[in-house]
Amino acid sequence: MSARSDAHGPAREVHGRAALLEVRGLTKRFGGLVAVDGVDFSVAPHEMVGLIGPNGAGKSTLVKLIMGILRPDAGSIRFKGRELRGLPPWEIVNLGVAGTFQNTRPFRRLPIIANVMVPCLAPRARRRGEWVKRIEAKARDALEFAGISDLALEPAYQLSHGELKRLEIARAIATEPELLILDEPFGGLNPTESDLLAKSIRRLYKGGRFGRLHSEGMAMIIIDHKLSYLLRIVDRVLVMHFGRLIASGTPEEIVRHPEVVEAYLGREEEARA
Ligand code: ADP
Ligand code: MG
Repeated sequence: MSARSDAHGPAREVHGRAALLEVRGLTKRFGGLVAVDGVDFSVAPHEMVGLIGPNGAGKSTLVKLIMGILRPDAGSIRFKGRELRGLPPWEIVNLGVAGTFQNTRPFRRLPIIANVMVPCLAPRARRRGEWVKRIEAKARDALEFAGISDLALEPAYQLSHGELKRLEIARAIATEPELLILDEPFGGLNPTESDLLAKSIRRLYKGGRFGRLHSEGMAMIIIDHKLSYLLRIVDRVLVMHFGRLIASGTPEEIVRHPEVVEAYLGREEEARA
């Protein structure tokens, strides 16, 4: 089965490879509202997937379910064959999934460098015998990568919105994830900042060594409304509407998909007009 149609069918494989992430029947209710409604999709190793949909479609809720911030009412989330459902967020980070959230929530009084070190102090890192010095070095490399190393000793409350977005990415990549999930990374960024971020994302995706950090090339799920950036950098796009996945395809297929145009792109055109 091709990755293109896996929004609706069982896809144990994506592009002929075993899936890195496999989400099946994922459901989350808030009272009477079904925010995520029986969602099925897979992400292959080293695949860059975009997730779009109108406000309130359930995108951020889906991310929080994968990251263990919210508990699903039904369904499964397998990462490299292992069930994530029910695991606490730090164990999910240990297994190699890291994310940034739509609303940035740093430790406001801690220096930037400490904000980046905290997620690296998880058991996986300790088991590897990494000392605080080594974690600090990695955190510095992550800040360097995110372009905010000159702010390492500033408290987080001093940062601008664009800098906070970059701090979030530094925090996520310092844990050296295999799957990186970015919830609206371009939100509130100006065009110059957005261009820089798009380039950084491409570099992470291609992999390589960033100082002491090493990446084989991360798989990513990127949510954003800025389709001009998103559609340029992803391999495949999933579209959510009222909690359901309504389409999956290449960027070219998605912009022509009737339901997508109706549910989402139509409105975006109106907004631009
Ligand atoms: P998106 O990220 O696609 O804009 P969300 O996942 O944030 O959408 O929200 C999906 C729906 O779930 C919305 O109707 C939203 O109001 C609702 N929702 C999100 N979080 C909560 C919550 N903690 N409690 C109640 N309703 C929520
Ligand atoms: Mg959201």
